[in-house]
Amino acid sequence: MAFSTDVRLPRALAPVFPDRCLGCGRPSQGGTLEFASRSIGWWTPVLMKAGSRVSVAVPVCAACRPRLARQRRVRFLAAAACAVGAALAAMQVVGPEAGPARRWIAAGLALLLLAPVVAWQTWFPPALELTVMSGSVTYEFADRDYAREFERLNAGRAGPAAAPERGPS
Ligand SMILES: [Zn+2]
Repeated sequence: MAFSTDVRLPRALAPVFPDRCLGCGRPSQGGTLEFASRSIGWWTPVLMKAGSRVSVAVPVCAACRPRLARQRRVRFLAAAACAVGAALAAMQVVGPEAGPARRWIAAGLALLLLAPVVAWQTWFPPALELTVMSGSVTYEFADRDYAREFERLNAGRAGPAAAPERGPS
């Protein structure tokens, strides 16, 4: 059980990744796996709609590539199924009699129902996750050493306005 180690960089900066596999730490031999995410904000859970897309190619060896891709797919499907389930359940509980506030109450209830999923994501983080905000991208690594190296590689390039931020560790 471990929290991810987070490194925040300006969105405009193309990040440099350590020249080794994200999954096992061995030389990646030129292989990469694309990680992408869309920008989120306070409006995301309300409108169920995310913004523009950011994608990065991360060094990954041939052996880890299918494993990491599968892990990401399974996590995404599980989270999506939970989110849809929570939204449907919330809409059932909060009926039309709630009036114009129905959407807000249902969204709040859905978030509450999703708390266990969020806890699972927090305690068992994936190899890498991107959180895209309007001006920055937070790279959340499961491997703390890899994250520190990533932070070092990009620290000088990010400029003083965007000091890297570390998550709980
Ligand atoms: Zn590997």
